[in-house]
Amino acid sequence: MEQLTGDFSLLGRIPSLLLSWYDAWGRTLPWRSDPTPYHVLVSEVMLQQTRVEAVLDRYERFIREVPDLKTLAELPEDRLLKLWQGLGYYSRARNLQKCAKAVMETPEKELPADPALLRKFPGIGEYCAGSVASIAFGVRAPAVDGNVLRVTARLAACARDVTLPPVRRELRSRVEEILPKERCGDFNQALMDLGATVCLPNAAPLCEKCPLRDLCLGRARGIAQELPVRGKRAPRRVEEIGVLLLRREDRVALRRRPDAGLLAGLWEPPTFSGSPEEFCRAQGISCGAFAPGPKGKHLFTHVEWRMTGYLAESADGCLPEGWVWADSSEIAKKFALPSAFSIFFQKKDAKS
Ligand code: SF4
Repeated sequence: MEQLTGDFSLLGRIPSLLLSWYDAWGRTLPWRSDPTPYHVLVSEVMLQQTRVEAVLDRYERFIREVPDLKTLAELPEDRLLKLWQGLGYYSRARNLQKCAKAVMETPEKELPADPALLRKFPGIGEYCAGSVASIAFGVRAPAVDGNVLRVTARLAACARDVTLPPVRRELRSRVEEILPKERCGDFNQALMDLGATVCLPNAAPLCEKCPLRDLCLGRARGIAQELPVRGKRAPRRVEEIGVLLLRREDRVALRRRPDAGLLAGLWEPPTFSGSPEEFCRAQGISCGAFAPGPKGKHLFTHVEWRMTGYLAESADGCLPEGWVWADSSEIAKKFALPSAFSIFFQKKDAKS
C-alpha cells in the first residue's frame, strides 16, 4: 500500500455531523444514564481491552455493591476480585482500588475535573483521564483509544504505523484540534460508538451507514479496510500447562496463585509443568490414578496457555498449606477463578 502521511484538512467538519448521528444512533449503556465521575471511571476501566457485552451485567452488579469511591477503597480484595471475575486483566481492578484509596486520602475525597490531575492517580492513563474529564465534567479533553485511532486513521487515510508513539501522538493532537467547545463528552462517546458499531475493527467498515462517509479519505481511496496499519507483534509464547482437578467427594482443590505475575493472587485449580505424578509427589499429595480431563486453550496478551486437565480422587483429603477444598456453590460465590479455567468447571465436566 502507498505510504501516505494522512490528510487532516477535512476533520474540522466532523463534530456537527457526528453529534447529530450520536443523538440518533448512540448506544444506550448503563453508565451513560448517570455519568458521575465514579461511574465513568469504573466503566472506562472495565471496558479497557474488554467487549461491551462482557461489561454490561458486571458493571451493574459492581455499582450495586460498590456504589462509590469510599466503598471501593474499603472493599476486601477477595471480594473485589470476585466482582471482577470474567473481565480479565485483574491488575485493573487492583489499580482501580488503589485509585479510590488515593482519592480518599485527598482533602476533597472526589475525583478532580482536570485531566492532568486525574492522571496522577493510580490506573488512570491519558485515555481514561480524557474520558472522565470530558464525559463526567464536560471538560474539553480528547479520549483516544484504539477505536478512535482506527476511525481517525481511516478518515485521514493515514497509513503510518499507529503503534508508533509519534503517530499516536499526532492522531491524538488532530482529534484534540477538532473537539467541540460544547458536548465534548458526547463527541468522544460518539467517536467511540462509531468505531464500535460502524467503522468496525477486523472487518469491512460499514461505510454506507457512516455519517462521515463523504469526508472519509480512506473510503474515497478504497483503502479503509487496510487501515490502521499496525506493526507486527511478536508471536505469543506457547506454554503447556497441566491442571490438577483433585477431588474429594463434591469438592475440588484450589490454591491461590502467586502475588506477582500472570493472574496474580487469583484462585486456580493447581497448575504445573511436567507430569501430574511428579507434581503431586512434590506437593505431598496422595491420590488415586489420573484420568484425562478436559483440554483447553487460553490467550493472554503475550502468552498462549495450552492446558490439559488431570482428574484424580484425593486418598486422604490432606492438602498442602494454603490450598482449600471448595464446592460448586463456594466457587460461584466466593473464589475469583479466572475465565482461563472455566472449561474445567462446566457442568458436563462436573460429572466426569
Ligand atoms: Fe470508517 Fe467508512 Fe466511516 Fe470512513 S466512511 S470513517 S472507513 S465507516
